[in-house]
Amino acid sequence: MSGARERNAMFDPVGREKNRTEDGVLYLVATPIGNLLDLSGRAIKVLSEVSFIAAEDTRNTAKLLSYIGVSKPMVSYYQHNRTERGEEICKRLLAGESCALVTDAGTPAISDPGEDLVRLCAEKNIKVTFIPGACAAVAALALSGLFTGRFAFEGFISGARSERKERLAELSTEKRTLIFYEAPHHLISTLNDLYKFFGDRKITLCRELTKLNEEVIRTTICEAIEYYNNNIPRGEYVLVVEGKKEEENFWFSLTPVQHVEFYMKNGMQKNDAIKAAAKDRGVHKSEIYKEFL
Ligand code: SAM
Repeated sequence: MSGARERNAMFDPVGREKNRTEDGVLYLVATPIGNLLDLSGRAIKVLSEVSFIAAEDTRNTAKLLSYIGVSKPMVSYYQHNRTERGEEICKRLLAGESCALVTDAGTPAISDPGEDLVRLCAEKNIKVTFIPGACAAVAALALSGLFTGRFAFEGFISGARSERKERLAELSTEKRTLIFYEAPHHLISTLNDLYKFFGDRKITLCRELTKLNEEVIRTTICEAIEYYNNNIPRGEYVLVVEGKKEEENFWFSLTPVQHVEFYMKNGMQKNDAIKAAAKDRGVHKSEIYKEFL
């Protein structure tokens, strides 16, 4: 790089004066997960240059735009209007406009609306590009102190009882580190379910990342349950859970019902099998009875 070009790059690090955003392109723009200073220079450039912004919540995004001094037409794109709105956005892109997709926090399309819009654009041969930034899952994994070489992102675990059980049973044999998103009011019941299906494993609870009250608790599932029985969960959480270890007890991969059935197949009466399964899991037998209801 020549001296003059190098100087220009220093004074114009985001290249506001050149490489303007392309027409007909959807830009996935990652936004901060708590700290506004995490908005990247490229994100600011794209947000100020695109024809319009598709936002999960236009009021939230208006605050972000006001922080960077940008005023831009917005449309809402969220869970409940994504089918019709997705088509409208694509029509505008095909007509030559450019659009930045932003969600309330973090990387669009990761446990966020956006996934469908990217798919629709791919079907219609519309170019989609990415402006990197914060993602709570990646931040938590990096902070977890657990094995990061192989991991599985699970997002939110379903609230529907049977689906939730099925998913946790399936995950109980997963050897990769697991990442879950969770809301504070569901934290305790999720920790209890994790214990039921995974046993007592290492867990890192990452709370309010990048915010004033950021907290990273590296503990075990049992200790976390005990802690939150005495402390009200507050804020947004990412849970990073150690994967299944080879040396775990045989029943860690079984649901409580399968665990009881295992003993029954080996000749025990149902009541004894329930007692034995409860003892293995370190829970009261009523917990196992409940699983049969
Ligand atoms: N697309 C976002 C991303 O890239 O991280 C995730 C959106 S998802 C709807 C919201 C969830 O992400 C929250 O319920 C929480 O589990 C997690 N999350 C978002 N911000 C967080 C933060 N600052 N600290 C911890 N977890 C956070």
